[in-house]
Amino acid sequence: MGILSYAKTYALRRLFQVIFQVTFRCNARCSFCFNLDELNQRLDEELSFDEIRKFSRSMPKFEWLMISGGEPFLRDDLPEILETFASNNRVKHITVPTNAIAKDKVLSMAPELIKACPESSISIVLSLDAIGEQHDKIRGVPGTFDKVLSVLGSLKELQAREPRLTLKLETVVTDANLGQMGEIIEFVHRLDPDLHILDLERGGFKGWMQEFPANYDIDPVIRESFRVLRESRGYASLNEHAPMLAKVSKSVQAEYFSMLPQLVHGERLTKCLAGRMTLVLYPRGDVAACEVLPNCANIRDFDLDYEQTIRSEPFSRQVAAISEHRCTCFHPCYQTVNILFSPKHLVRALFRRKR
Ligand code: SF4
Repeated sequence: MGILSYAKTYALRRLFQVIFQVTFRCNARCSFCFNLDELNQRLDEELSFDEIRKFSRSMPKFEWLMISGGEPFLRDDLPEILETFASNNRVKHITVPTNAIAKDKVLSMAPELIKACPESSISIVLSLDAIGEQHDKIRGVPGTFDKVLSVLGSLKELQAREPRLTLKLETVVTDANLGQMGEIIEFVHRLDPDLHILDLERGGFKGWMQEFPANYDIDPVIRESFRVLRESRGYASLNEHAPMLAKVSKSVQAEYFSMLPQLVHGERLTKCLAGRMTLVLYPRGDVAACEVLPNCANIRDFDLDYEQTIRSEPFSRQVAAISEHRCTCFHPCYQTVNILFSPKHLVRALFRRKR
């Protein structure tokens, strides 16, 4: 994304980011999963590839596709799904998370994902919440920790041939691993991924506010997040496709961390662009303006058509409610978009980078 494209996206409030939870199928059992009640249920109702392709064809071009789940690599047609969005919507950057439990699938599919999207940069995000058996306990499956290390090692070999690939490790901070955070950070540092992100556990949504479910003091976590961010290389793979985003992504993340203490206490610090510049699509076709608000419509009720869906009465009502109720959350995907498209916060973020 260059300056001109940024300005147009901002001025026209164009769609910028789509989170697509491609499946509720999952091979892990993480206690903090926000989809726990949905996992491995009604899988026959999930969107078919043909339905996804039809919806994608009706969508405008947008910059960032964040795949989520469930475990995305359990969808055999994941390469075709990515190819569809890359070609129909000229998506520039795609993020795919994995728990690495289906190790063989991840390793065989990763090169296919890169090949399927020749104009996009791809980030594969491996979950690592603790060291050794403690990680296996958190994820509910023995052997997961070893698989994460093995997958990371093999993906690094792939990355040496495919510079469009970024490798990121993500740690969900919970009461279970809080005490070992320093140790985990040092361990991940030695693994040398491009990025390591500490994510706060998500809470429910009550009274138009996302709840912070833990009791711990987040200040030390934020200090560690700044340190990890400083030491990370960042989204190197963005350089080719989105040079401006590559330059500002670390600054925007730093700005987000600086806002977190207020965000977790329900303060609203930016205008929220959810529903106008973002969309979340769930495996069975449900949509919402963001992942924090409840589903409000289903694309199957609107002929799998993007414009009809977002102009529908329930979706429009949800977008209007965002300004009316001034809801608050600390979801990094949305808050970073809000910072990126808020001139005041973006200038502050860039200024912070220079200090
Ligand atoms: S502030 Fe934005 S992203 Fe957060 S809950 Fe409200 S609409 Fe969703």
